[in-house]
Amino acid sequence: MSSIVPGTTNQRRRLADNLKRVRDQIAEAALRSGRRPEDVQLIAVTKGVDLEIVKLLLDLGQLDLGENRVQQLVKRASLIDEQMQRRAAAGNDIGGPVRWHMIGSLQRNKVRQILPLVSLVHSMDTLRLAEEISARAEKAGQPAEVLVQANVSGEKSKSGIPPAAVPYLVEQIASLAKLKVVGLMTMAPLVENPEEVRGVFTRTRELFEEIRASRRAGPDFAHLSMGMSNDFVVAIEEGATLVRIGSALFEGVAPVRPDQGTGDADSVD
Ligand SMILES: *Cc1c(COP(=O)(O)O)cnc(C)c1O
Repeated sequence: MSSIVPGTTNQRRRLADNLKRVRDQIAEAALRSGRRPEDVQLIAVTKGVDLEIVKLLLDLGQLDLGENRVQQLVKRASLIDEQMQRRAAAGNDIGGPVRWHMIGSLQRNKVRQILPLVSLVHSMDTLRLAEEISARAEKAGQPAEVLVQANVSGEKSKSGIPPAAVPYLVEQIASLAKLKVVGLMTMAPLVENPEEVRGVFTRTRELFEEIRASRRAGPDFAHLSMGMSNDFVVAIEEGATLVRIGSALFEGVAPVRPDQGTGDADSVD
């Protein structure tokens, strides 16, 4: 199958190498934690790179993509969708649907726009947001899947709700008709040595297991979204089932623009 994706050969080769390296590290960490490599899913976080790089990723078989800003996700989903239709028409499809993950903070007035496009919202952190998602999902006739974001590290700069409040929010959400809470998400502080944040992942997994044992959530409560470029190996060792990785995939491939990474711009547009 020939590639119809632009980008230099060099870029493509480096991206393929990075992807393979990251996938190998994920597989090894999964095995170390007594799980199968396929039990941990890689989400490529593309918020800071150009659309051409996103296309290369899809061409390399990486179909789970994460964005943290509504506008960018919406725009990219439509551009990629167009391209995928053209590829399919040319008999060169990528072998499955693209799955978009919303990983940044989401405001209620953006839910309608984004819901039809995303397969999972990782950043659910208020009952009001949950109610809005459920109502929109009901209108669309399609249940929505979300993770509750827990702020386990207690950093003020991080979104998410305090661990003690998580079980109650999960329970309240579980009673909403068209919303499935499928697990928890957390972010650890950025540190030089990821061992320093192992405790954040351990506590998140314990919280997750407590909720499961208490039957506050349904049988779909099965995912832990934790681990980024700097700390995903430790996160998997502590039980992550979804890792959100950006910069480690793009080293030597393309610049990652940090201004795309804050998610803040969304509140003003
Ligand atoms: C940017 C981002 C990531 C990926 O971070 P990297 O360090 O580039 O791997 C993961 N999760 C969230 C919520 C992000 O905003």
